[in-house]
Amino acid sequence: MTLAEAEALDAADPLAPLRDRFMRPDGLIYLDGNSLGMLPQASVAASADMVERQWGERLIRSWNEGWIDAPTRIGGKIAPLIGADAGEVIAADSTSVNLFKLLVAALRRDPARTVVVSEAGNFPTDLHIAAGAVGCVPGAELRVVARDDLADALGDDTAVLLLTHVHYKTGARFDMARWTANAHAVGALVLWDLSHSAGAVAIDLNGANADLAVGCGYKYLNGGPGAPAYLFVAERWQAALGNPLSGWMGHAAPFAFTDDYVAATGMKRWLTGTPPVLGLGALEAALGLWDGVDFAMVERKSATLFDMLLAAGKAAGLECVTPRDPVARGSHISFRHDDAYAITQALIARGVIGDFRDPDVLRLGLTPLTLSHVDVWHAGRLLGEVIASGEWQRPEFTVRAAVT
Ligand SMILES: *Cc1c(COP(=O)(O)O)cnc(C)c1O
Repeated sequence: MTLAEAEALDAADPLAPLRDRFMRPDGLIYLDGNSLGMLPQASVAASADMVERQWGERLIRSWNEGWIDAPTRIGGKIAPLIGADAGEVIAADSTSVNLFKLLVAALRRDPARTVVVSEAGNFPTDLHIAAGAVGCVPGAELRVVARDDLADALGDDTAVLLLTHVHYKTGARFDMARWTANAHAVGALVLWDLSHSAGAVAIDLNGANADLAVGCGYKYLNGGPGAPAYLFVAERWQAALGNPLSGWMGHAAPFAFTDDYVAATGMKRWLTGTPPVLGLGALEAALGLWDGVDFAMVERKSATLFDMLLAAGKAAGLECVTPRDPVARGSHISFRHDDAYAITQALIARGVIGDFRDPDVLRLGLTPLTLSHVDVWHAGRLLGEVIASGEWQRPEFTVRAAVT
């Protein structure tokens, strides 16, 4: 693709106006919105209002002026992005903590079902939390198998199949309807981690008949560093499953201050402690960006951006490990190279921010709301230059930082 062709695509891009609704540092091509989304302008204003007026002036009165309902309200705004009903999603805690709550609840549903099945190479926290969750339920066990062995690992002892919809490293996407049906065929629940798919691809939890889901607020949803996460419980399970982290905010009447725990109805029972109001404010403002956004357009643009970087990577001799079929991947592209870390650093030095995933993956996020085709055209050009020049071999690019 030529630069002129990329410019023509931008001119015809229905998502192009959204780019200006983000803070965009000069001279930077940001291909890491899959890890930490860019800052929406609306979040700047919302955060200032939250701090100065809602906290500074209104003080504790703000709890009754919108704060106490924020987790439910924001859950309702996330719901349409993941194919859920408004009353099936709540914003709370981190993805890790939400995984714990739902896994323990799924294990307690039926004492005859004791096994959590998940994929080897799943995002680390999913496996670590699953190990912690089975440790909290007597008799429970974690079965972690390769992707190809997942179907065989399911059985009548399976309590829950825990899958990450889009793989953080390769970008490979599970067929949600098919794997939900596979879990249901043995009587198990399915728990989807949507961290790398919400805001990246069209998701239809209810269309797939999914049971449970969690996901991040700070990746494609642009909620800000450490933004609150969310969880989904299908309406049909809401009365049957209980939150093991039974805190006062999940109580039916938190301000009755009673000794005994009585779970709230609906999604509120999945709250534990006091909601992180400042973070929720930034997340809520960021969610406004999706009003009227059609995921068919998001997926189409993502596919074009993918093809541009795939061609650039191929020309540079890089091996792409992400599926070529758009429905079988999320919205990032990953290349394998023995020196992927140094290449990532050399790209960052040229103003193209991607990231490295141990041990050998260069990962480039393609966020259709924040990137133009011209941005990605230049990223492809710079990737080619960094490889062809051998500049990534400079010693400073091999020094590992704490966060890669
Ligand atoms: C990013 C990510 C997480 C992060 O969990 P935190 O609790 O926010 O640290 C979890 N799971 C997956 C699949 C992720 O991609």
